[in-house]
Amino acid sequence: SSPTRSQNGEFSVAVVGGGLVGSLAAVYFASRGWTVTVYELREDIRTVKQSSGRSINLALSARGIAGLEGAGVGKGLLDTLIPMKARMIHVGNSQSSQNYGYFNEAINSVDRKLVNQHLLNMAETHKNVSFKFQYEVLSIDFDKKVLNFKKPDGTVVKATADLIVGTDGAFSRVRRELMRVTRMNFMQEYIEHAYVELNMPPVTLFMPWSNFEAIKSPTDLMLFFEQKFPDTIPLIGKELLVKDYFKNPKGSLISIKCKPYHYKSSCVILGDAAHAMVPFYGQGMNCGFEDCLVLDEIFDRVLGKRGSAGSARPSAEKVAKALEEYSELRNPDAEAICDLALNNYVEMRSSVTKLFLAPLVPKTVIPLYTMVSFSRIPYSKALAIHESRTKLYNWLGKVAGYSVVAVGWVLLLRLV
Ligand code: FAD
Repeated sequence: SSPTRSQNGEFSVAVVGGGLVGSLAAVYFASRGWTVTVYELREDIRTVKQSSGRSINLALSARGIAGLEGAGVGKGLLDTLIPMKARMIHVGNSQSSQNYGYFNEAINSVDRKLVNQHLLNMAETHKNVSFKFQYEVLSIDFDKKVLNFKKPDGTVVKATADLIVGTDGAFSRVRRELMRVTRMNFMQEYIEHAYVELNMPPVTLFMPWSNFEAIKSPTDLMLFFEQKFPDTIPLIGKELLVKDYFKNPKGSLISIKCKPYHYKSSCVILGDAAHAMVPFYGQGMNCGFEDCLVLDEIFDRVLGKRGSAGSARPSAEKVAKALEEYSELRNPDAEAICDLALNNYVEMRSSVTKLFLAPLVPKTVIPLYTMVSFSRIPYSKALAIHESRTKLYNWLGKVAGYSVVAVGWVLLLRLV
């Protein structure tokens, strides 16, 4: 079989995007002994003073933790987690606390910047990892395995790699380039809501764009908060609320599905580049970290285990086989969690009823949220279990309804 090419005989990987998923992926590839270069558009988040990120805090749960532990990088991060057992629902002036888990489990709050910094540090402990910050990928020739990058001074530089990994987020350039060479199915959907970060410490406010557009002055803002979330005003403080609201960027929320995720032995996309989702299940990063683990498990099977045969230079055929298997295996799960996140968006906008029903259901029935957030049951399987269960409950509900009507008729007939 033909060997993949590289300058010095080592297997080289270009990771495009040094965000959450890219920096974890770099650790996985480096542990195979491969030569990894991470190309990141922004400055190094570890040295830059003010980083303009998205949400400040993220919820880390079972899949994300498994992804971190699989690469041996949990230590030093997992001990900073703040468990969150419940969320607060605000309806008008009243609030109610609602548990995330049926069995008292907690998801964990973690600082986005800290996760990224930690993972970059972990990647840096590997001698075979190097970073190129402020490198923006412009175009890629996947057959020649050549990437073109723009540097801040406008110059364009070329790089080559045996494997190109696109972890450049929801608006991925790597994905756009992949679309030119694969018959990629692609679907994207913006939802009506946007978000802005407000410091309470961190609160993220989600609401439709039309509401954001209606708030034009500090007076409009205070009126809105007095009506909708009066309890948060003393916690945030009027001054900070006005400052954060008008200063912080408003982010749109997008859901993206596509398939396949790879091209021959040259390229694979992971994380938001492959499956951006709306944030209402708190799974985007978790799913991206699990992507790295799932791909690593496939590499273990097809190329051999890390640290042994799997660290040798792989043939192009084997890499292509592994990437194809990854696209096939991961796509139904990624699409399922995109759907679940959209469903949760609809549910959270209306009244939340699911957990009120939980006490009526036997303890042996694992709720959907538990399967998604506190287990590694594949997302598609969790969704299928939930759908068949919902059908059964609907059927039981109908049977119960018909039985009540039938008993009513019998009683009525006896009376007349
Ligand atoms: P990103 O984090 O977007 O990183 C992409 C990187 O690529 C960036 O560093 C970027 O600078 C770089 N890049 C982009 N273009 C180029 C280019 N052309 N060349 C080179 N580099 C490039 N997930 C959870 O699991 N739990 C949560 O609680 C949660 N809450 C969220 C709340 C909000 C409001 C939002 C918007 C998202 C939330 N998410 C959450 C989702 C999570 O943020 C994403 O899934 C995660 O950031 C994806 O990581 P990524 O590395 O794939 O992409």
